[in-house]
Amino acid sequence: MSYVGKMSPKSNVYGHFIMPSSSESKPRNLKAVCHHCIQTVAGSNKATSNFRRHLEKNHPDIYAKLDDPVADPKQLSVNKFTRNSTGTKWKSTDLRQMELTNCIVAFIVHDLLSLSLVESERFCILMATAEPIFTMPSRKHLSSVLLPQHSTTVQTRLKIQLQQVQNLCLTIDTRSFIGVTGHFILDHTINSVM
Ligand SMILES: [Zn+2]
Repeated sequence: MSYVGKMSPKSNVYGHFIMPSSSESKPRNLKAVCHHCIQTVAGSNKATSNFRRHLEKNHPDIYAKLDDPVADPKQLSVNKFTRNSTGTKWKSTDLRQMELTNCIVAFIVHDLLSLSLVESERFCILMATAEPIFTMPSRKHLSSVLLPQHSTTVQTRLKIQLQQVQNLCLTIDTRSFIGVTGHFILDHTINSVM
């Protein structure tokens, strides 16, 4: 099959796919290749729903910029599953928004990841695909509010733990920086904190 550039001016959805060359104007099924992920998508030259669905699922950032993302009535019903009734994002005080934000903070802290994770295009796509109404925290908010909050929580918890400990053993690591690790037994469990 030979592929030519962009197709039908009917919808800019088609602009994101390489369509097979054709001069036919009657409805027909075809396979197009996505410009962004080189995936083949089966659809019709008369209905944009499959192509819209592909963009929504795999490229939510591009989907959001389409002229009219929900022009297709069939697509409205699909959106009901992925968005809440008003189609708006969660408020910052929403329990699930806070829960996911905390998970991202813990992910960054425990895996020693760069704060730029929240600006990673692929990570944003992943989160938007998993939970379209979640708002990714900004890097600034992460460094000025969320991480200090997390740090305070960890310090408070550690202080409470250490108040109950009778013996604390320290080890010091001085290779490239000075790292002090405390080891203690609490509730019959060995703990190590740095
Ligand atoms: Zn794609």
